[in-house]
Amino acid sequence: MSKIGNQGGPGRNGKKAGFCSFCNRSGEEVGPIVEGPNGVFICSNCVELCHNIIRQEQRRTTSSKPMLGAIPTPRQTREFLDQYVIGQEHAKKVLSVAVHNHYKRLSHDDQKNNSDVEIEKSNVLLIGPTGCGKTLLARTLARVLNVPFAIGDATTLTEAGYVGEDVENILLKLLQAADYDLEAAERGIIYIDEIDKIGRTTQNVSITRDVSGEGVQQSLLKMLEGTVANIPPQGGRKHPEQQYIQLDTSQILFICGGTFVGLENIIRKRLGRQQIGFVSEDHPDLTPQEHGNTLAQVQPDDLVHFGMIPEMIGRLPCICALEPLDEEAMIRILTEPKNALVRQYKRLFELEDTELEFTDESLKAVAAEALKRDVGARALRAVVEHLMLELMYELPEKKEEGGVYEITAAMVNGETEPTLFAAHKAKKESA
Ligand code: ADP
Repeated sequence: MSKIGNQGGPGRNGKKAGFCSFCNRSGEEVGPIVEGPNGVFICSNCVELCHNIIRQEQRRTTSSKPMLGAIPTPRQTREFLDQYVIGQEHAKKVLSVAVHNHYKRLSHDDQKNNSDVEIEKSNVLLIGPTGCGKTLLARTLARVLNVPFAIGDATTLTEAGYVGEDVENILLKLLQAADYDLEAAERGIIYIDEIDKIGRTTQNVSITRDVSGEGVQQSLLKMLEGTVANIPPQGGRKHPEQQYIQLDTSQILFICGGTFVGLENIIRKRLGRQQIGFVSEDHPDLTPQEHGNTLAQVQPDDLVHFGMIPEMIGRLPCICALEPLDEEAMIRILTEPKNALVRQYKRLFELEDTELEFTDESLKAVAAEALKRDVGARALRAVVEHLMLELMYELPEKKEEGGVYEITAAMVNGETEPTLFAAHKAKKESA
């Protein structure tokens, strides 16, 4: 194989050198061209195109289209989720089963036998405070199944105002995540965040919401239920002359998430009526755990009271409440998942031939500091990054080879400066 310049020249076997044999364009238009045996030529654009085709083909034949045999069992899915998501045991179980049934339904549809039974879509609604793992669960599920995944935000849909426009942009994101492989995208997973923010204004606890909330719910409804959507390939507004990509959403699994602030009061009111002695509204100061326990008892009716339209709730048959994270869970999140922050920093130190240790107290202090910020595990990264900044800055130059560095609670609490010097403890015993 040899490279031909942009100018070209006489080719072997009478074929045109300097012209791509695939797209027929000249080297002057497309840049350098590679010559293969028997006088075949290919340009970089066509190489890339071939790459995409091959990738799509490989994905199709492997796992992007899980068939019944290849669909992980709920137990397998849950074990995979365990590697990345701490706690949320109930949610993991609900999701594992929902996903299994969803993809089983798809292969059932594929086989088209026994068509008198129709298994309905099992879209999921996740309810829980910020940073407790809703998005993480959805994203990790897409990884287990090796299907395309996209995240949308319901609030941006409201703000854009025009119904039926931005909703399709979420589908476009999914299509992009699938490298424009339509078939793979149609079996993907979409996570829609902040679904609670588009509630109906009349019964919603937040009275500042705009009136288009319900309209957005209507267009989302169609998507959740299954429709053939027209997607503008470049995103943005639709206009009449545009060519659309048609994407069928009936096989896409939708996972919606929201914090539903105030929902626990609605549940408590209902429960209060039924159960004498249940925490009444005169005790508004519930602990996060009590909040979690209340949310776990959510019923579709409570969501209607909250302001979701009933049809929407009907399209989200699996409702699942997530627990707020406590200090213990935060410490586990810091240390246990495959991509846990502490593990990442330890690895970075290892790459510099040093060792990093966190005392138990320091981990507790990080968790406590993060909990104060009230954004769940999301705060952990900010706290740890702030803590480690100076050390990482100094490490490559000031490290002692084989040195052991220890992070203490005093550093986390700001009583000692977290510097490399302060953290230095000893030299590693060489084996
Ligand atoms: P939300 O519930 O608001 O969607 P996310 O799933 O986006 O929260 O969580 C934000 C980040 O916090 C995640 O990227 C992850 O690093 C961490 N995190 C949150 N909850 C968990 C959890 N249960 N297990 C492990 N990490 C978590």
